[in-house]
Amino acid sequence: MLPKKQIVDLPVYQPGKPIEEVKRELGLDSIIKLASNENPFGSSPEVQPAILKELSQLAIYPDGAAMELREAVSSFLDVKGEQLVFGNGSDELCMLTSRAYLQPGTNTVMAVPTFSVYKTTATVEGAEVIEVPLKDGVHDLPAMLEKIDENTRIVWVCNPNNPSGTINSKDEVVSFLKQVPETTLVVLDEAYCEYVTNDAYPNSLSLLPDFPNVLILRTFSKIYGLAALRIGYGVADPAIIDKLNRVREPFNTSRIAQAAAIAALKDQEFVKKCREENAKGREQFYKAFDEMGLSYYPSEGNFVLVDTGKNGNDIFNALLRKGVIVRSGVALGFPTGIRVTVGSTEQNDTFIGAFREVLEGRGV
Ligand SMILES: *Cc1c(COP(=O)(O)O)cnc(C)c1O
Repeated sequence: MLPKKQIVDLPVYQPGKPIEEVKRELGLDSIIKLASNENPFGSSPEVQPAILKELSQLAIYPDGAAMELREAVSSFLDVKGEQLVFGNGSDELCMLTSRAYLQPGTNTVMAVPTFSVYKTTATVEGAEVIEVPLKDGVHDLPAMLEKIDENTRIVWVCNPNNPSGTINSKDEVVSFLKQVPETTLVVLDEAYCEYVTNDAYPNSLSLLPDFPNVLILRTFSKIYGLAALRIGYGVADPAIIDKLNRVREPFNTSRIAQAAAIAALKDQEFVKKCREENAKGREQFYKAFDEMGLSYYPSEGNFVLVDTGKNGNDIFNALLRKGVIVRSGVALGFPTGIRVTVGSTEQNDTFIGAFREVLEGRGV
C-alpha cells in the first residue's frame, strides 16, 4: 500500500507518561504528574451533575452545531454565534485549519520550538513548514513576518507559547497583524490565556473587528479542567468559521463534552481561583529555581520551562524514579530543559524536593 509520502516519516506524538504506566513500571504507589499542563484542581463541581444529566441521552447524536454551548460562549465573550466553531479539543481545530487552508505548493510559518500539532497537521496537508527560532524564548514576530511570502496561508502564534510559557505583548501582536498580508490567516493559539496575569497581554477578541484574518483558538482542557472530554473553540470572522465548518465532521464534539463545557464556563469563580493558585505556584517554582541557581523563562501559563544544565532526559528519568512525572525538554526543543506543570502547593513542594535531590546527585 502507498500512503501519502509526507506522512511516512511523521513523528508520532509523544504524550506525557500516564500515571498508571509509571506506577506499574516502577512499582511506586504515589505518583504526581506535572507533565501535561492539566489542572491540579480538577474541574468545577458544576460539571459532574451536568454530565450525569446527559447519561440518559447516549443513544442520541449530539447537536452538531452545539447551539446551547454556542450561545453560552457567544454571550460570555460578547461575539456573534457565527463567529464560533467548536472542536474535539483545540487540537482538532488546528487540524481543521490546516485542512481548510493548506495544500502542496503553499507554506505555513511558525515558531520553533512551539506546540507540535501545527507542524504535524501542516505536513499532513503537504504544505512547506517554515520555522523561525524563538528569541529569548519568545516568538520573534518581526523575523516571522520576513518569512511570509505570497504562498503563506497560515502563520501560527502560540500565546502564551508552549513550551516556553512566554507571551507576545499587545503592541507586538498589533504591529505584526498590521503588516501580515490580508490573505494570510493568523492563528492566535490561546490555550493558556486564562492563566495570564501580565497586563501587556493582548485582548485578542478586541482585535477581530480590525483584523478579519485572525483566528483565535481556546480550549476547555486547561484552566477549565476538561482535558478528558476534548473540547475547544475557535473565534474568527464568520467567513473563516464557514471554511472550518466545511471540513469539520458533523458530530465532532460529544453531548457530554458540550454539557460539561456549558457548566464549566458558568463557574468563573473556579477559573479565578485556579488562576490565582497557579500564579502562586509559579512563584513557588521561581523561588526554588533561583535558590538552585537555575535559569527559566518567566511563564504566563500553568507550566515553567527550566534549564537544568544537564540532559533533560536524564533529569526526567531521575525524577520519574522518585515518582514525579515532568516533560523532558529534549522532545520539546530544549535539550537541557524540563517543562514542569504548576500543581497544587503540595505537589509543587514534592517536585521541588525531588528536583533538588536529583540535581545534588542523589538518584541521577
Ligand atoms: C494543550 C494545548 C492545546 C490544546 O489542547 P486540546 O486539549 O486539544 O484542546 C492547544 N494548544 C496548545 C499550545 C496547548 O498547549
